[in-house]
Amino acid sequence: MRATRAVIHLENLKYNIEQIKKKFKAGVRICLPVKADAYGHGAVQIALCALHSGVFCLAVASVREAVLLREAGITAPVILLSLPVPEETEQLIRYDIIPLVIDEECIDALNDASSQAGKKTAVHLKIDTGMSRIGCAPENAVQLAKRIQNSSNLKLDGVCTHFSVSDSFEKDDREYTKKQIADFKNTVKAIQNAGIDTGIVHASNSGAVLAYPEAQFDMVRPGLLCYGYTPYRKNACKTDQNTEKSFFSSIKLRPVMELLTKVVFIKKIAKGTAVSYGRSWTANQDTYIATLPIGYADGLSRTLSPALRVKIAGSFYPVIGKICMDQCMVDLGSHTRVKRWDDVCIFGPENKAGANNSAQDIADIADTIPYEIMCNINKRVDRIYTE
Ligand SMILES: *Cc1c(COP(=O)(O)O)cnc(C)c1O
Repeated sequence: MRATRAVIHLENLKYNIEQIKKKFKAGVRICLPVKADAYGHGAVQIALCALHSGVFCLAVASVREAVLLREAGITAPVILLSLPVPEETEQLIRYDIIPLVIDEECIDALNDASSQAGKKTAVHLKIDTGMSRIGCAPENAVQLAKRIQNSSNLKLDGVCTHFSVSDSFEKDDREYTKKQIADFKNTVKAIQNAGIDTGIVHASNSGAVLAYPEAQFDMVRPGLLCYGYTPYRKNACKTDQNTEKSFFSSIKLRPVMELLTKVVFIKKIAKGTAVSYGRSWTANQDTYIATLPIGYADGLSRTLSPALRVKIAGSFYPVIGKICMDQCMVDLGSHTRVKRWDDVCIFGPENKAGANNSAQDIADIADTIPYEIMCNINKRVDRIYTE
């Protein structure tokens, strides 16, 4: 097996799901987003483990992602969070995938295709309360719900919305989210008042699961929390950092993904020797350099050097010079205990050897979010599952 691999700690996924469940009122179900190959963790294995741990249903971003789950024998409900194109409709119906519907055109098209297939398709009505991505305007929701109810081959199985700043503790962001929740509640009530069964009502992503218990409704959709991270961003809140920090640290989670590689070569170089493309780094003393078989094609962004430090044999060492497509170099210093074939932890959960980088640490260096760090771990990196 290749030295560069991602160990996926399913025991930590189970642990995180248990921690998240403690935040819920009785009866609240979990929909686990497994889009983008379960944020890079491997959708089928994550889905099987999560369903075994009491997750009710799954969510994906494309019909293809849903079909891969079905082909693996997964029969749980699968919600499609993005809009399909007409060419995908037939497959969507055939594999019992639950689409989000947002206007008359897609309701009518789905109903026609479902009746042709001789099936009744469950749909969720998506209401745009402020994300401005997909969804119907709240004032059109009742009329669309009626249209679904009057469609012979559709069933209104759920009503949902999505929050854009539920992970922020800025005062105006808090107000924005509260307005989204209020608008959603009113819209759900209006649909019910029209005598229509809404099915499963759901809204909360990870940020909302932590900060807005009033938005749990019938089901929640926490992705990032299940994978072991809070959407809390360091120094993101200018007005009330302490409250924000204590709030997000109120849940103890364990990263599920551990990105590892090995030292494949060590050499001593003389002071003044340049390392890697562009000669951007030059040794200021005689030093030992380790070569690691991991690069930006594996998901280790070029923007991470020179700030990134990786853990080898219990200590952290800087990645120096430009990160290449498939390899990078580490400065071990003038004396070193590191040996060829030693394991290198790029990021992962704390273990017997102590703390490691987290995907959040890597994201901070790259000025992005842990979601992107995990999704970017390329498919040529083997996933190894442990429980
Ligand atoms: C990705 C996604 C989620 C999960 O978001 P997290 O921040 O990972 O919890 C929930 N709902 C929708 C519509 C999404 O697209």
